[in-house]
Amino acid sequence: MYMEVIVKVAETCNLNCTYCYYFNSTNNDFQEKKKLIGKSTLSELSLFLARESIERKIKILQLDIHGGEPLLMSKNLLDDFLGDVKKTIDASTELKVALQTNGVLIDDDWIDVFSKHNVCVSISLDGSADEHDKFRLDKKGKGSYHAAIAGLGRLQRASLAGRILPNGIICVVNGNFDGEKIYNHFVKELGVKYIHYLLPECNHDVVVANQVKNIEKFIIETLHAWLNDGIGKVKVQMFETALGKLMRKRNAIYEYIGFTVRSDGAINPPDDLRNVFPSLFHSDFNVKTNSVNDFIEREDISILYGELSSIPEACKDCAFVNVCRGGQVFGQPENRFSTRNGLNNKSVYCEVYKALYVELCKYLYGRGIGWERIEKNLQ
Ligand code: SF4
Repeated sequence: MYMEVIVKVAETCNLNCTYCYYFNSTNNDFQEKKKLIGKSTLSELSLFLARESIERKIKILQLDIHGGEPLLMSKNLLDDFLGDVKKTIDASTELKVALQTNGVLIDDDWIDVFSKHNVCVSISLDGSADEHDKFRLDKKGKGSYHAAIAGLGRLQRASLAGRILPNGIICVVNGNFDGEKIYNHFVKELGVKYIHYLLPECNHDVVVANQVKNIEKFIIETLHAWLNDGIGKVKVQMFETALGKLMRKRNAIYEYIGFTVRSDGAINPPDDLRNVFPSLFHSDFNVKTNSVNDFIEREDISILYGELSSIPEACKDCAFVNVCRGGQVFGQPENRFSTRNGLNNKSVYCEVYKALYVELCKYLYGRGIGWERIEKNLQ
């Protein structure tokens, strides 16, 4: 089994990004939570992970150290927690640690912690200062681009020196921006090698005309810039996933479970669903007293997990259903939501995914892969 745990070590932030899904959206439950996770909760969490790793025979345990801004927590606490987890989980469980940060607080002492525990760090960056500073603001309303870039530089130098794993960036797509310009800024000017594009949080209740069309344009511009660079030079998660599916690249298959642990130890569903299913984020389950089974066996949570892994009715006749699964292969299940049907909808970004697959099919055909093979791989 592959178990992914989003650990909310900070339910507070040093920035105030205007589009933030956590602090500037509809679910304000962070107001009832501790701002920073405490030592006793981390101790309970490491015991919980140890129990689960043994009882569920977990092959891979992925911890996503998350916030708010995770680097607001004490370095010593994270250092001790990761050391404890490594010591107490089952000897046959592989531990992977990822950390998502706005980059502003990265210093040499943090790099030491990342180095000691093999933490794979990703920085949120939405483009050059022109784009990034429109939305990613500090508490005084000033752009955070230059501080984020300073953090990125520290990570890159540490990675080049072989001290830490290669880092990546996460870019929230804005359909009003130029995808090619932003890609070139990341790759040619900043030397970024791993990019994860996130489509804006959206659902069928709120999607506005042109939003999807503009995002499609952004993604296709970016795709062409990436293809022009030559596949393999830069890892773009969305494109590699789609291409891998079209080429039937086989990855190891594990049973998967993902959930969130809040700063008070509460066990919640995957974090990206917090604004569409707010009531499911008021659970009484806690790592101190409960198991994963207690959580996933509650009726409403069990229904949610069933919906997450089901193919939406509206996708069943789609030519790309086996490589897209209603957008499941790209994550972001919140983009399937409507009040009427829950998650039983295609993604609001369906047209973006179709355009992406069509362009990639054309690319493969242009590289000598016959239509019969492409068609077969789609089945
Ligand atoms: S989301 Fe769209 S592209 Fe994906 S499977 Fe559903 S209908 Fe097909």
